Amino acid sequence: MALLEARGVTKRFGGLAAVSDVSFDLREGEILGLIGPNGSGKTTLVNVVTGALPASAGDVSFAGRSLRGVPAWEIGRRGVSRTFQVVKPFRNLTVVDNVMVGALFGAGGTRDVAGARRQAEEILDFVGLAHRAAAPAEGLNVPERKRMELARALAMRPRVLMLDEVMAGLNPTEIDAAVALIKRVRERGVSLIVIEHVMKAIRSVSDRILVLYHGEKLTEGEPAAVLNDTQVIAAYLGRRYAESVHA
Ligand code: ADP
Ligand code: MG
Repeated sequence: MALLEARGVTKRFGGLAAVSDVSFDLREGEILGLIGPNGSGKTTLVNVVTGALPASAGDVSFAGRSLRGVPAWEIGRRGVSRTFQVVKPFRNLTVVDNVMVGALFGAGGTRDVAGARRQAEEILDFVGLAHRAAAPAEGLNVPERKRMELARALAMRPRVLMLDEVMAGLNPTEIDAAVALIKRVRERGVSLIVIEHVMKAIRSVSDRILVLYHGEKLTEGEPAAVLNDTQVIAAYLGRRYAESVHA
């Protein structure tokens, strides 16, 4: 049995099917890459899985239980967490306080504030941000903000974590560090869905890749096969990518 199972998931906004009849499995311990052009429905799919938006049709189950009609906070408490493509920290709070919010509202669900602070500090250390713990969140640069967002999601003690473009705006060195960090998250027993446009990163981090195109599943499979698929190249990666891999 897969840890997360999506079956026929559809999300319409008026006349637009942003996600259309998408099914996939996420196995325990797996990293599933989710790619597709801008507007292909990746973030909407995450929104439906996490209960931020109700599905128009279809169903998602986690650990064998349907998430249909389950409110977002309860889905988070059961162990499904995500990062946001546009990070919106509590700007006036410190970094450690922002991460504590995750610890207080996630699967840990603790009311022990001192314990939540210790957890937050431990996770900041894990993501390499311990030295910024006491800084106000608004003072962070882009890579630091991405790490804080990852820390906040990890503080919820998820079993499934969905990362929505956490590498956007990072330079190549920072991207390599982010890939290594994602692999260490998996080693902690978290299964991941990773949305990313950086093909080198998605190739090295993913066990399997699922491709969305106009809201539909175009293909899924092993990274090498998917990224060499001529349909995928034509739909998404484009001529420049095709030339670079064959160069
Ligand atoms: P991606 O993350 O792959 O770039 P999105 O899931 O953000 O794509 O968007 C998929 C499509 O759904 C786009 O056409 C987008 O404009 C539309 N969309 C996303 N969210 C909403 C919303 N809340 N209301 C209306 N349309 C939306
Ligand atoms: Mg998106």
